[in-house]
Amino acid sequence: FSDVESFDPEIAAAITAETNRQRENIELIASENLVSKAVMSAMGSTLTNKYAEGYPGKRYYGGCQHVDVVEDLARDRAMELFGCTYANVQPHSGAQANMTVFFALMNPGDTFMGMNLDHGGHLTHGSPVNLSGKYFHCVPYGVNDDGFIDYDEVERIAKECQPKLIVAGASAYARKIDFKRFREIADEVGAYLMVDMAHIAGLVAAGYHESPIPYAHVTTTTTHKTLRGPRGGMILSSKEFAEEHKLNKALFPGIQGGPLMHVIAAKAVCFKEALDPSFKEYGKNIIDNAQALAKGLQSRGLKIVSGGTDNHLMLVDLADKGLTGKEVEKWLDEAHITCNKNTIPNDPQSPFVTSGIRLGTAAVTTRGFNTDDMDQVAEAIALMVNDPEANKEKATAIVKSLTDKYPLYE
Ligand code: PLP
Repeated sequence: FSDVESFDPEIAAAITAETNRQRENIELIASENLVSKAVMSAMGSTLTNKYAEGYPGKRYYGGCQHVDVVEDLARDRAMELFGCTYANVQPHSGAQANMTVFFALMNPGDTFMGMNLDHGGHLTHGSPVNLSGKYFHCVPYGVNDDGFIDYDEVERIAKECQPKLIVAGASAYARKIDFKRFREIADEVGAYLMVDMAHIAGLVAAGYHESPIPYAHVTTTTTHKTLRGPRGGMILSSKEFAEEHKLNKALFPGIQGGPLMHVIAAKAVCFKEALDPSFKEYGKNIIDNAQALAKGLQSRGLKIVSGGTDNHLMLVDLADKGLTGKEVEKWLDEAHITCNKNTIPNDPQSPFVTSGIRLGTAAVTTRGFNTDDMDQVAEAIALMVNDPEANKEKATAIVKSLTDKYPLYE
Protein backbone atom coordinates (compact mmCIF):
# COMPACT_ATOMS: atom_id res chain seq x y z
CA PHE A 1 0.00 0.00 0.00
CA SER A 2 1.25 3.52 -0.76
CA ASP A 3 1.09 6.34 1.72
CA VAL A 4 -1.22 9.29 1.21
CA GLU A 5 1.56 11.64 0.02
CA SER A 6 2.51 9.42 -2.92
CA PHE A 7 -0.91 7.95 -3.73
CA ASP A 8 -3.11 11.02 -3.28
CA PRO A 9 -1.16 14.29 -3.42
CA GLU A 10 -4.36 16.38 -3.54
CA ILE A 11 -5.57 15.06 -0.19
CA ALA A 12 -2.04 15.14 1.24
CA ALA A 13 -1.75 18.81 0.28
CA ALA A 14 -5.05 19.64 1.95
CA ILE A 15 -3.96 17.85 5.13
CA THR A 16 -0.67 19.74 5.16
CA ALA A 17 -2.50 23.02 4.58
CA GLU A 18 -4.86 22.27 7.47
CA THR A 19 -1.95 21.40 9.79
CA ASN A 20 -0.34 24.72 8.86
CA ARG A 21 -3.63 26.55 9.47
CA GLN A 22 -3.77 25.04 12.95
CA ARG A 23 -0.15 26.10 13.53
CA GLU A 24 -0.63 29.66 12.31
CA ASN A 25 -4.04 30.41 13.82
CA ILE A 26 -5.19 30.98 17.36
CA GLU A 27 -7.93 28.41 17.86
CA LEU A 28 -10.77 29.79 19.95
CA ILE A 29 -13.64 27.55 18.81
CA ALA A 30 -15.03 26.42 22.17
CA SER A 31 -15.87 22.90 20.99
CA GLU A 32 -12.43 22.17 19.56
CA ASN A 33 -9.14 21.04 21.03
CA LEU A 34 -5.73 19.78 19.89
CA VAL A 35 -5.18 16.08 20.56
CA SER A 36 -1.89 14.42 21.49
CA LYS A 37 0.16 12.42 19.02
CA ALA A 38 -0.77 9.30 21.02
CA VAL A 39 -4.49 9.94 20.46
CA MET A 40 -3.87 10.59 16.78
CA SER A 41 -1.79 7.49 16.22
CA ALA A 42 -4.41 5.26 17.86
CA MET A 43 -6.95 6.73 15.43
CA GLY A 44 -4.71 6.16 12.43
CA SER A 45 -4.12 2.48 13.29
CA THR A 46 -5.07 -0.94 11.85
CA LEU A 47 -8.06 -0.98 14.18
CA THR A 48 -9.94 0.95 11.49
CA ASN A 49 -10.11 -2.34 9.55
CA LYS A 50 -12.08 -4.26 12.15
CA TYR A 51 -15.81 -4.97 12.30
CA ALA A 52 -16.94 -5.59 15.89
CA GLU A 53 -20.73 -5.30 16.06
CA GLY A 54 -21.86 -6.14 19.57
CA TYR A 55 -19.98 -5.60 22.82
CA PRO A 56 -16.79 -7.17 24.31
CA GLY A 57 -17.28 -10.94 24.73
CA LYS A 58 -20.51 -10.86 22.68
CA ARG A 59 -19.66 -9.93 19.11
CA TYR A 60 -21.29 -10.76 15.80
CA TYR A 61 -17.86 -11.16 14.14
CA GLY A 62 -14.81 -13.34 14.67
CA GLY A 63 -11.31 -12.07 15.40
CA CYS A 64 -12.41 -9.59 18.04
CA GLN A 65 -10.06 -10.69 20.83
CA HIS A 66 -7.77 -7.66 20.55
CA VAL A 67 -10.42 -5.02 19.99
CA ASP A 68 -12.22 -6.47 23.02
CA VAL A 69 -9.15 -5.56 25.07
CA VAL A 70 -9.31 -2.04 23.64
CA GLU A 71 -13.00 -1.53 24.39
CA ASP A 72 -12.72 -3.00 27.89
CA LEU A 73 -9.84 -0.65 28.68
CA ALA A 74 -11.77 2.32 27.31
CA ARG A 75 -14.87 1.47 29.38
CA ASP A 76 -12.88 0.77 32.58
CA ARG A 77 -10.92 4.00 32.26
CA ALA A 78 -14.07 6.03 31.54
CA MET A 79 -15.76 4.61 34.65
CA GLU A 80 -12.68 5.31 36.78
CA LEU A 81 -12.34 8.84 35.41
CA PHE A 82 -15.94 9.83 36.05
CA GLY A 83 -16.72 7.56 39.02
CA CYS A 84 -19.61 5.55 37.60
CA THR A 85 -20.48 1.89 37.01
CA TYR A 86 -21.59 1.93 33.35
CA ALA A 87 -19.90 3.36 30.28
CA ASN A 88 -20.73 2.89 26.62
CA VAL A 89 -17.86 4.18 24.47
CA GLN A 90 -19.37 3.25 21.09
CA PRO A 91 -21.39 6.37 20.13
CA HIS A 92 -19.87 7.78 16.94
CA SER A 93 -20.72 11.29 18.11
CA GLY A 94 -22.44 13.32 20.80
CA ALA A 95 -25.58 13.45 18.67
CA GLN A 96 -25.73 9.63 18.55
CA ALA A 97 -25.22 9.39 22.32
CA ASN A 98 -28.12 11.77 22.89
CA MET A 99 -30.42 9.97 20.45
CA THR A 100 -29.63 6.67 22.16
CA VAL A 101 -30.79 8.00 25.52
CA PHE A 102 -33.91 9.59 24.01
CA PHE A 103 -34.94 6.35 22.33
CA ALA A 104 -34.11 4.29 25.43
CA LEU A 105 -36.12 6.47 27.83
CA MET A 106 -38.91 7.92 25.69
CA ASN A 107 -41.39 6.95 23.00
CA PRO A 108 -41.85 9.10 19.90
CA GLY A 109 -44.24 11.93 20.73
CA ASP A 110 -43.27 12.10 24.42
CA THR A 111 -42.58 15.50 25.98
CA PHE A 112 -39.12 16.49 27.19
CA MET A 113 -37.38 19.71 28.18
CA GLY A 114 -34.09 20.99 26.79
CA MET A 115 -32.29 24.31 26.74
CA ASN A 116 -33.34 26.63 23.96
CA LEU A 117 -30.80 26.62 21.12
CA ASP A 118 -30.87 30.44 21.06
CA HIS A 119 -30.02 30.51 24.76
CA GLY A 120 -27.06 28.13 24.52
CA GLY A 121 -28.60 24.67 24.11
CA HIS A 122 -27.59 22.15 21.43
CA LEU A 123 -29.44 21.17 18.24
CA THR A 124 -29.97 17.68 19.66
CA HIS A 125 -31.77 19.10 22.71
CA GLY A 126 -35.03 19.57 20.83
CA SER A 127 -34.44 21.90 17.90
CA PRO A 128 -37.29 21.55 15.38
CA VAL A 129 -34.76 20.91 12.59
CA ASN A 130 -33.23 17.97 14.48
CA LEU A 131 -34.50 14.43 15.05
CA SER A 132 -34.91 15.30 18.75
CA GLY A 133 -37.46 17.98 17.87
CA LYS A 134 -39.13 16.04 15.07
CA TYR A 135 -39.70 12.74 16.94
CA PHE A 136 -40.27 14.16 20.43
CA HIS A 137 -42.19 17.12 21.77
CA CYS A 138 -39.68 19.60 23.19
CA VAL A 139 -40.64 22.33 25.63
CA PRO A 140 -37.60 24.61 25.87
CA TYR A 141 -36.24 26.52 28.86
CA GLY A 142 -33.67 29.30 28.80
CA VAL A 143 -31.71 31.97 30.61
CA ASN A 144 -32.90 35.10 32.44
CA ASP A 145 -32.05 38.67 31.42
CA ASP A 146 -28.67 38.37 33.15
CA GLY A 147 -27.76 35.31 31.08
CA PHE A 148 -28.07 32.71 33.88
CA ILE A 149 -30.30 29.60 33.75
CA ASP A 150 -33.57 30.52 35.44
CA TYR A 151 -34.10 27.45 37.66
CA ASP A 152 -37.44 28.70 39.05
CA GLU A 153 -38.67 29.01 35.49
CA VAL A 154 -37.36 25.51 34.67
CA GLU A 155 -39.37 24.23 37.64
CA ARG A 156 -42.49 26.13 36.58
CA ILE A 157 -42.32 24.82 33.01
CA ALA A 158 -41.67 21.26 34.24
CA LYS A 159 -44.72 21.34 36.50
CA GLU A 160 -46.79 22.64 33.64
CA CYS A 161 -45.65 20.29 30.85
CA GLN A 162 -44.85 17.17 32.97
CA PRO A 163 -41.90 16.04 30.83
CA LYS A 164 -40.70 12.46 30.71
CA LEU A 165 -37.10 13.67 30.56
CA ILE A 166 -35.19 16.87 31.27
CA VAL A 167 -31.90 17.59 29.51
CA ALA A 168 -29.36 19.73 31.35
CA GLY A 169 -26.23 20.83 29.50
CA ALA A 170 -25.35 23.33 26.82
CA SER A 171 -23.10 24.36 23.96
CA ALA A 172 -22.84 28.06 24.70
CA TYR A 173 -23.39 28.58 28.42
CA ALA A 174 -20.53 30.08 30.41
CA ARG A 175 -21.80 29.49 33.93
CA LYS A 176 -21.78 26.55 36.33
CA ILE A 177 -24.80 24.29 35.97
CA ASP A 178 -26.59 23.28 39.17
CA PHE A 179 -27.18 19.57 38.52
CA LYS A 180 -28.57 19.04 42.03
CA ARG A 181 -31.31 21.58 41.40
CA PHE A 182 -32.07 19.99 38.03
CA ARG A 183 -32.45 16.58 39.70
CA GLU A 184 -34.75 18.03 42.36
CA ILE A 185 -36.95 19.48 39.62
CA ALA A 186 -36.88 16.19 37.70
CA ASP A 187 -37.85 14.25 40.84
CA GLU A 188 -40.68 16.67 41.58
CA VAL A 189 -42.33 15.86 38.25
CA GLY A 190 -41.20 12.24 37.92
CA ALA A 191 -38.88 12.90 34.96
CA TYR A 192 -35.53 11.38 34.09
CA LEU A 193 -32.57 13.74 34.25
CA MET A 194 -30.14 13.45 31.35
CA VAL A 195 -27.02 15.61 31.56
CA ASP A 196 -25.16 16.34 28.33
CA MET A 197 -21.76 17.41 29.63
CA ALA A 198 -20.13 17.49 26.17
CA HIS A 199 -18.57 20.92 26.58
CA ILE A 200 -17.41 20.63 30.17
CA ALA A 201 -16.42 16.93 30.35
CA GLY A 202 -12.71 17.79 30.66
CA LEU A 203 -13.45 20.25 33.46
CA VAL A 204 -15.55 17.61 35.24
CA ALA A 205 -12.72 15.06 34.81
CA ALA A 206 -10.24 17.58 36.21
CA GLY A 207 -12.52 18.45 39.14
CA TYR A 208 -13.23 22.05 38.07
CA HIS A 209 -16.93 21.65 37.42
CA GLU A 210 -19.27 19.72 39.69
CA SER A 211 -19.81 16.22 38.33
CA PRO A 212 -23.29 15.38 37.04
CA ILE A 213 -22.78 11.66 37.83
CA PRO A 214 -24.31 11.72 41.36
CA TYR A 215 -27.43 13.52 40.07
CA ALA A 216 -28.17 12.41 36.51
CA HIS A 217 -29.92 9.17 35.59
CA VAL A 218 -27.78 9.22 32.45
CA THR A 219 -24.90 11.43 31.35
CA THR A 220 -23.83 11.86 27.73
CA THR A 221 -20.76 13.56 26.38
CA THR A 222 -18.53 14.07 23.41
CA THR A 223 -14.89 13.11 23.84
CA HIS A 224 -13.31 15.80 21.66
CA LYS A 225 -13.95 19.08 23.43
CA THR A 226 -12.39 19.95 26.82
CA LEU A 227 -11.78 16.21 27.34
CA ARG A 228 -9.25 16.40 24.46
CA GLY A 229 -9.86 13.05 22.83
CA PRO A 230 -10.87 11.88 19.35
CA ARG A 231 -14.15 13.03 17.80
CA GLY A 232 -16.81 10.81 19.35
CA GLY A 233 -19.44 10.29 22.02
CA MET A 234 -20.00 8.33 25.21
CA ILE A 235 -22.84 7.40 27.58
CA LEU A 236 -22.36 7.07 31.35
CA SER A 237 -24.76 5.81 33.98
CA SER A 238 -25.10 3.22 36.73
CA LYS A 239 -24.97 -0.47 35.83
CA GLU A 240 -28.46 -1.01 37.24
CA PHE A 241 -30.06 1.87 35.33
CA ALA A 242 -28.30 0.91 32.07
CA GLU A 243 -29.48 -2.71 32.38
CA GLU A 244 -33.02 -1.78 33.33
CA HIS A 245 -33.36 0.60 30.38
CA LYS A 246 -31.27 -1.46 27.93
CA LEU A 247 -28.95 1.42 27.03
CA ASN A 248 -26.50 -0.88 25.21
CA LYS A 249 -29.24 -2.23 22.97
CA ALA A 250 -30.63 1.24 22.29
CA LEU A 251 -27.26 2.19 20.77
CA PHE A 252 -26.49 -1.12 19.02
CA PRO A 253 -28.51 -2.41 17.23
CA GLY A 254 -30.96 0.45 17.90
CA ILE A 255 -29.11 3.33 16.31
CA GLN A 256 -25.67 2.28 15.12
CA GLY A 257 -24.01 -0.64 13.39
CA GLY A 258 -20.32 -1.43 13.81
CA PRO A 259 -18.33 0.57 16.36
CA LEU A 260 -15.27 2.58 15.26
CA MET A 261 -12.61 0.55 17.07
CA HIS A 262 -9.76 2.90 16.10
CA VAL A 263 -11.68 5.80 17.63
CA ILE A 264 -12.49 3.74 20.73
CA ALA A 265 -8.73 3.04 21.09
CA ALA A 266 -8.09 6.77 20.87
CA LYS A 267 -10.80 7.38 23.50
CA ALA A 268 -8.98 4.92 25.80
CA VAL A 269 -5.73 6.85 25.29
CA CYS A 270 -7.52 10.13 26.00
CA PHE A 271 -8.98 8.73 29.25
CA LYS A 272 -5.51 7.57 30.32
CA GLU A 273 -4.23 11.10 29.70
CA ALA A 274 -7.14 12.57 31.65
CA LEU A 275 -6.46 10.23 34.59
CA ASP A 276 -2.92 11.61 34.83
CA PRO A 277 -2.48 14.27 37.57
CA SER A 278 -1.27 16.77 34.93
CA PHE A 279 -4.80 16.87 33.48
CA LYS A 280 -6.03 18.50 36.69
CA GLU A 281 -3.65 21.37 36.08
CA TYR A 282 -4.83 21.55 32.47
CA GLY A 283 -8.42 21.98 33.69
CA LYS A 284 -7.42 24.78 36.02
CA ASN A 285 -5.42 26.52 33.31
CA ILE A 286 -8.39 26.37 30.88
CA ILE A 287 -10.56 28.26 33.37
CA ASP A 288 -7.83 30.75 34.36
CA ASN A 289 -7.28 31.47 30.67
CA ALA A 290 -11.01 31.90 29.98
CA GLN A 291 -11.33 34.34 32.87
CA ALA A 292 -8.24 36.26 31.71
CA LEU A 293 -9.67 36.49 28.19
CA ALA A 294 -13.07 37.65 29.45
CA LYS A 295 -11.43 40.26 31.68
CA GLY A 296 -9.16 41.42 28.85
CA LEU A 297 -12.12 41.85 26.50
CA GLN A 298 -14.27 43.61 29.10
CA SER A 299 -11.47 46.04 29.99
CA ARG A 300 -11.31 46.90 26.26
CA GLY A 301 -15.02 47.70 26.13
CA LEU A 302 -16.52 44.41 24.94
CA LYS A 303 -19.62 42.99 26.57
CA ILE A 304 -19.65 39.38 27.80
CA VAL A 305 -23.04 37.66 28.23
CA SER A 306 -23.70 37.03 31.96
CA GLY A 307 -20.73 39.27 32.80
CA GLY A 308 -18.04 36.58 32.78
CA THR A 309 -17.36 32.86 32.77
CA ASP A 310 -16.99 29.91 35.15
CA ASN A 311 -15.81 27.47 32.50
CA HIS A 312 -13.86 27.33 29.24
CA LEU A 313 -16.09 29.56 27.13
CA MET A 314 -17.77 32.92 26.84
CA LEU A 315 -20.21 34.68 24.55
CA VAL A 316 -19.29 38.15 23.35
CA ASP A 317 -22.35 40.34 22.81
CA LEU A 318 -21.74 42.56 19.77
CA ALA A 319 -25.25 44.02 19.54
CA ASP A 320 -24.50 47.29 21.32
CA LYS A 321 -21.59 47.90 18.95
CA GLY A 322 -23.98 47.46 16.03
CA LEU A 323 -21.95 44.50 14.74
CA THR A 324 -22.93 40.97 13.78
CA GLY A 325 -21.25 37.69 14.68
CA LYS A 326 -20.97 36.89 10.99
CA GLU A 327 -18.81 39.91 10.17
CA VAL A 328 -16.67 39.71 13.31
CA GLU A 329 -15.98 35.98 12.74
CA LYS A 330 -14.74 36.91 9.26
CA TRP A 331 -12.59 39.83 10.48
CA LEU A 332 -10.97 37.68 13.16
CA ASP A 333 -10.27 34.98 10.60
CA GLU A 334 -8.40 37.57 8.54
CA ALA A 335 -6.15 38.13 11.56
CA HIS A 336 -5.72 34.33 11.98
CA ILE A 337 -8.01 34.06 15.00
CA THR A 338 -10.58 31.28 14.59
CA CYS A 339 -13.93 31.41 16.37
CA ASN A 340 -17.60 30.99 15.53
CA LYS A 341 -20.51 33.35 15.29
CA ASN A 342 -23.15 32.48 17.87
CA THR A 343 -26.60 33.67 18.80
CA ILE A 344 -26.88 35.52 22.09
CA PRO A 345 -29.99 35.19 24.31
CA ASN A 346 -32.97 36.86 22.57
CA ASP A 347 -30.84 37.57 19.51
CA PRO A 348 -32.60 39.82 16.99
CA GLN A 349 -30.46 38.38 14.17
CA SER A 350 -30.91 35.03 12.41
CA PRO A 351 -28.70 32.05 13.44
CA PHE A 352 -26.73 32.56 10.22
CA VAL A 353 -25.91 36.18 11.08
CA THR A 354 -26.14 36.41 14.92
CA SER A 355 -25.14 39.19 17.32
CA GLY A 356 -22.37 37.33 19.08
CA ILE A 357 -19.24 35.25 18.89
CA ARG A 358 -18.39 32.29 21.10
CA LEU A 359 -14.83 31.96 22.36
CA GLY A 360 -13.24 29.05 24.21
CA THR A 361 -9.83 28.35 25.69
CA ALA A 362 -9.46 24.54 25.59
CA ALA A 363 -7.23 24.47 22.48
CA VAL A 364 -5.01 27.46 23.29
CA THR A 365 -4.48 26.08 26.81
CA THR A 366 -3.35 22.77 25.32
CA ARG A 367 -0.94 24.76 23.20
CA GLY A 368 0.57 26.34 26.32
CA PHE A 369 -0.94 29.83 26.38
CA ASN A 370 -1.00 31.45 29.84
CA THR A 371 -3.09 34.29 31.28
CA ASP A 372 -0.67 37.00 30.03
CA ASP A 373 -0.95 35.54 26.54
CA MET A 374 -4.75 35.64 26.84
CA ASP A 375 -4.56 39.36 27.48
CA GLN A 376 -2.64 39.67 24.22
CA VAL A 377 -5.35 37.62 22.48
CA ALA A 378 -7.96 40.01 23.93
CA GLU A 379 -5.95 42.94 22.55
CA ALA A 380 -5.83 41.39 19.07
CA ILE A 381 -9.59 40.69 19.13
CA ALA A 382 -10.42 44.21 20.35
CA LEU A 383 -8.24 45.73 17.63
CA MET A 384 -10.12 43.81 14.93
CA VAL A 385 -13.56 44.53 16.40
CA ASN A 386 -12.82 48.25 16.67
CA ASP A 387 -11.31 48.84 13.22
CA PRO A 388 -10.42 45.79 11.16
CA GLU A 389 -8.90 47.71 8.29
CA ALA A 390 -6.68 50.02 10.30
CA ASN A 391 -5.65 47.37 12.85
CA LYS A 392 -5.27 44.19 10.82
CA GLU A 393 -1.48 44.37 10.61
CA LYS A 394 -1.09 45.02 14.32
CA ALA A 395 -3.49 42.22 15.30
CA THR A 396 -1.85 39.75 12.92
CA ALA A 397 1.57 40.57 14.41
CA ILE A 398 0.26 39.77 17.91
CA VAL A 399 -1.13 36.45 16.66
CA LYS A 400 2.15 35.58 14.94
CA SER A 401 4.21 36.31 18.05
CA LEU A 402 1.97 33.96 20.08
CA THR A 403 1.79 31.14 17.55
CA ASP A 404 5.58 31.32 17.07
CA LYS A 405 6.02 31.14 20.85
CA TYR A 406 4.05 27.88 21.04
CA PRO A 407 4.90 25.64 18.07
CA LEU A 408 2.41 22.89 17.29
CA TYR A 409 2.90 19.25 16.18
CA GLU A 410 6.61 19.54 15.48
N1 PLP B 1 -24.02 18.03 22.92
C1 PLP B 1 -23.48 19.23 23.08
C2 PLP B 1 -23.76 20.00 24.34
C3 PLP B 1 -22.66 19.77 22.10
O1 PLP B 1 -22.14 20.99 22.25
C4 PLP B 1 -22.40 19.01 20.93
C5 PLP B 1 -21.53 19.50 19.84
O2 PLP B 1 -21.11 20.56 19.75
C6 PLP B 1 -23.04 17.77 20.79
C7 PLP B 1 -23.83 17.30 21.80
C8 PLP B 1 -22.94 16.96 19.53
O3 PLP B 1 -21.74 16.39 19.32
P1 PLP B 1 -21.36 15.83 17.85
O4 PLP B 1 -21.00 16.99 17.03
O5 PLP B 1 -20.21 14.91 18.18
O6 PLP B 1 -22.55 15.09 17.36
